[in-house]
Amino acid sequence: MIKVKLDRGPAATLKEGVTVAQAFQALDADTDRHVVAARADGELLDLARTLTRDCTLAPVSVDSPEGLEIMRHSASHVMAEAVRDLFPGVKVAIGPAIESGFYYDFEVPEPFTPDDLGRIEARMADIVGRDLPFERGQVPKDEATEIFRKDGEVYKLELLGEIPDQQVSLYRQGSFVDLCRGPHVPSTGYIRAFKLTGISGAYWRGDERRPMLQRIYGTAFPTQEELERHLELLEEAKRRDHRRLGRELGLFSLEEEAGPGLVIYHPKGALLRSIIEDFERREHFKRGYQMVMGPQMLRVELWERSGHLANYRDHMYFTEVEGQTYGIKPMNCVAHMLIYKSRIRSYRELPLRYFELGTVLRHERSGVLHGLTRVRQFTQDDAHILCTPEQVEAEIVGVLDFVFDVMAIFGFAYEVELSTRPEKSIGSDEEWDRATTALTNALAAKNLSYHVCHGEGAFYGPKIDIKLKDALARRWQCATIQCDFTLPERFDLTYVGPDGERHRPAMLHRVILGSLERFLGVLVEHYAGAFPVWLAPVQVVLLPITDRVHDYAEEVAQALRAAALRVEVDNRPETLRYKIREAQVQKIPYMVVLGDREAASRTLAPRLRDGTELKDIPLEAFMARLLEESRIPATTGHS
Ligand SMILES: [Zn+2]
Ligand SMILES: [Zn+2]
Repeated sequence: MIKVKLDRGPAATLKEGVTVAQAFQALDADTDRHVVAARADGELLDLARTLTRDCTLAPVSVDSPEGLEIMRHSASHVMAEAVRDLFPGVKVAIGPAIESGFYYDFEVPEPFTPDDLGRIEARMADIVGRDLPFERGQVPKDEATEIFRKDGEVYKLELLGEIPDQQVSLYRQGSFVDLCRGPHVPSTGYIRAFKLTGISGAYWRGDERRPMLQRIYGTAFPTQEELERHLELLEEAKRRDHRRLGRELGLFSLEEEAGPGLVIYHPKGALLRSIIEDFERREHFKRGYQMVMGPQMLRVELWERSGHLANYRDHMYFTEVEGQTYGIKPMNCVAHMLIYKSRIRSYRELPLRYFELGTVLRHERSGVLHGLTRVRQFTQDDAHILCTPEQVEAEIVGVLDFVFDVMAIFGFAYEVELSTRPEKSIGSDEEWDRATTALTNALAAKNLSYHVCHGEGAFYGPKIDIKLKDALARRWQCATIQCDFTLPERFDLTYVGPDGERHRPAMLHRVILGSLERFLGVLVEHYAGAFPVWLAPVQVVLLPITDRVHDYAEEVAQALRAAALRVEVDNRPETLRYKIREAQVQKIPYMVVLGDREAASRTLAPRLRDGTELKDIPLEAFMARLLEESRIPATTGHS
C-alpha cells in the first residue's frame, strides 16, 4: 500500500500500482477534461502512469502554462501522424511545444505548400475525432532502435544514439510511435482548438551543414475563442514584422552581398538609433555612470585570461596582425577590467560604474539569424559596476530602478526571472549565497514578484533577467544583471579598504536595453512603425500644393530645422493624393499641406497620424507643440 496525498487536499492509502487517474478519483479530485496530467512530488506524469510510492499529487489543468504545453506537444504528435499518413516516405525529426504553439520538422522531397496545411489539418481533425489514447511504453534502447530502423527514421536513430540511459520511453497513438519523454494528454480527443500556422525551412539541429528540413508550425488552445484571439494577434504580428517595416520605412537592410546577420542602417534608421543612444547616454550620466570605450579587438592572451577562450571560443572571431593573434570582442568586459586596473583604487572611489555603447561580434550559425533580433554584429548598452561587497544590493536596486524607468517610457510591461547556481559552476558556496541573497533582497526591496529558474545562472554567478512584453504580449529578453566572481579574481582587481588592506571588489555586468539592434526590432513592432514624436526620424512632412508656396514651405522648414525638429519637404512632381498616401505609409506624426490660403495667413493646417486636423495654427504655436512632444520623456534618475 502507498500513501497518496492530494496537494492542498485529503490523503488516502491506496494499492501500489494504482494509476494517477484512479488516485484522483479515490481522492475525489476534479477529473474533468480540463485535467490533462499530474505533478507527483514535482514530476510531471501522464494520468495513466502508475504510482509505486508515497507522493503528493497535484492535477495539471490545460488552463495552466504546463498543461497547455502538454496539450500542444500532444498536438505535434498528432500532426506528425497526419503527415506520415498523407506523405508516405516522410522522415520525422523533432516536434516540441514552443512559446505560443508547437512545430514538427520533417524531411520531405518537396517543401509543403499552404494547400498541404489544409489537408494535414483535416487529417488531424480526424485523428482527434477518433479520440485515440496516447500510450506510453518503456523499452530497452535496442528495441527502440529496431523500431525506428525498420521505419528508416534516421533522425530518431541519431537522437537515440545520444541518450545514455538503457531504457527509453516511446509514445504511441494510432499508427504513430515517437521517441518522447512525455507526458501527454490521455487521448487525442483532449486536443481542443488547433490550427497550423506556417511552414519554413529549418536545418537539422540549426546547423547549416546538416540537411534542410521542412518545419510546420501550429498552435492549440483550450477553447475556440482563445485560438481565434491568438490568430488575430499573429496576423497583427505579420503586419508589424520589423523586417518588412524596416524596408518600407527606410530604416535598415540586411544584404546577402554584405554577409548574413550584418545590419546596414539607412539614414532614418541611423537617426532613430542615434536618438536612442543620446537618450541612453543622458540617462547613464544622470545615474552616476562614466562613459568608456574599448578597442574592437584585443590580444588573444587577454581572452585567455578572462576565460573567454576556454568558454566562449566558438562564438568568437580572430585575426592576425604582425604575427600576433587578436580576438574581436564578443563582450565589452575585458577593456573595462583594464581601466579599473590602471591604478590603485580606494574604497572611497567605489562604486565605479563604467558604461559603454559597445559593439560586439559573435558567431551565430547562419541558420538561426533573424532580422534584427538575431544578428552577428550588435551594440549593447553595457556597463560593469565594481563596488564593495556591502554596496552590491544598493547597486542592484539602482539598476532595477533604471530598467523600470526606461520600460515605462517605451510603454513596455515586464516579467522578472531570477536564475540560480547551475551544477557546473565556480565560486564558493558562501559567494553564491551572498550574491543570490543580494539579488533576492533587491527584488524584495522593489516589491517585485519573480519567477525562479533553478540552476540557470551563468557558471560565474547568479543573475536577474527582465523580459519585456510588447504591445502584442510577446516576451523579449532585454535587461540582465549578473553577479560575477571570476573576472575580479582573474584580473586580480583590488581596492584599498578603510583598514589599509587590499580587498577584492564585487562586480556586476548589466545591460538595460540589451542589444540595440534587437531592441530596435522590438520597438518597430511594438509601435507598428508609428513612433512617438520624440523617436520619429521624420516628425513633420510639408506638402506644398503649388509652386507659388515653395518659398513659404522653405521658410517653415528652415524655422523647424533651426529648432532641431526633423522635417522633410515633399516637392516631387506627384499628385497630392499620392504624397499624402506615402506620408501615411511612412507613419510620419504630422503632415502639413500648404496652399495659398496658409501662405497668405502665415498659418498651418497640420494633420495628425490618426486623422485629426488642426486648423489655422500660427507657425510659432505649432513649433511650441512639436518641441513639447519632442522632449525625451523625463525619468527619475538617481545615483
Ligand atoms: Zn513528444
Ligand atoms: Zn560584461
